[in-house]
Amino acid sequence: MLRTLRFRIPTAGPFIKSHRFASTLTFIETSKDGSVVSSSLNALTAAQQLGNPIHAVILGSQASAAANALKSSVKCEKLAKILVSNNVGFDHYLPEKVAPVLARLLQNEEYSHFVAASSTVGKSNLPRLGALLDLQPISDITKIVDAKTFVRPIYAGNAIATVECSQPKKLISVRASAFEPIAQGSTDSALIEEVQGLEPESSIDIKWEGETLVKSERPDLGSASIVVAGGRALKDKETFDKILVPLADALHAGIGATRAAVDNGFCDNSLQVGQTGKVVAPDLYIAVGVSGAIQHLAGMKDSKVIVAINNDPEAPIFKVADYGLEGDVYEIVPELTQKLKEVQN
Ligand SMILES: Cc1cc2nc3c(=O)[nH]c(=O)nc-3n(C[C@H](O)[C@H](O)[C@H](O)COP(=O)(O)OP(=O)(O)OC[C@H]3O[C@@H](n4cnc5c(N)ncnc54)[C@H](O)[C@@H]3O)c2cc1C
Repeated sequence: MLRTLRFRIPTAGPFIKSHRFASTLTFIETSKDGSVVSSSLNALTAAQQLGNPIHAVILGSQASAAANALKSSVKCEKLAKILVSNNVGFDHYLPEKVAPVLARLLQNEEYSHFVAASSTVGKSNLPRLGALLDLQPISDITKIVDAKTFVRPIYAGNAIATVECSQPKKLISVRASAFEPIAQGSTDSALIEEVQGLEPESSIDIKWEGETLVKSERPDLGSASIVVAGGRALKDKETFDKILVPLADALHAGIGATRAAVDNGFCDNSLQVGQTGKVVAPDLYIAVGVSGAIQHLAGMKDSKVIVAINNDPEAPIFKVADYGLEGDVYEIVPELTQKLKEVQN
């Protein structure tokens, strides 16, 4: 049973002064090609719901280009200013370098709220910001009740907490799937302001060495409108690829997996959905040989339509599924894939 709990976060210590004019600093993340990442557009919607003027902040070598693109592609009445620093040192968003700079910006008395998407970048910066500013962050919110009251899932989504925060500044990360992306259009009134002297700063010696990216033509799991996810029933990597990939191709879907599938080496761990993986809410989620453990449900139960294929009629996944197919994945999935191909031809 889903439980609702209510918590209060008391006022923080004397380090932060209360704001004179409420406004919201919103962190906007860009991808490697300089485009604004989709979860930041959801975060902007949450920021707008707070009702204060919004100052967006964009950091990194493509910041100015991204600011112009943001201004000309979204309609956000509350977006007053886009603060940019094109310093290349911010590229890759090393949190040890970004968080101190955000903390410095937030010293401005004007800011009553800080909002970021609950992405990997948001998740690594928020606790650091909390520590630097001596404030308790409120992570992964799914609803804004009012400017100081927020709803967030806890215990892997088994309880819903309503958190009332009396701190002078509220540090919030936003679960992207719970908020629509900000409307498309343009925000001509927003000013773009380059912040002088905004240097990456870190008290520890850290530098970016490199990365190895998994290249894929497939829609990204986090933003795909259809996700096909495989579980332990798929036995090994070869079978996982043989059964799941053709179905995903036929639907132009992203691929996800349970932790059991990831731990057994069926696929890369970036595909894990759940409490310790990604949280997704696509239009359609097809769970193939997935039992529906609570830790997995925590990452997908907000999907709009859930289809479960499982040979155990008692499997918990059927409790959250809109459509259940009871049977052997080795028969059902190839047949379903074949039928989809026929319909498409
Ligand atoms: C702290 C913690 C965090 C965790 N985080 C995550 C997380 O983020 N994500 C996650 O997924 N799990 C997570 N887990 C693990 C989770 O508890 C489950 O163990 C895992 O989700 C089970 O994966 P599964 O459904 O693939 O495997 P199983 O539970 O083994 O289920 C396999 C299912 O396949 C069905 N099946 C078998 N053969 C067939 C067939 N031929 N045809 C049709 N159906 C078949 C079975 O009936 C069964 O329901 C976490 C656990 C802990 C303790």
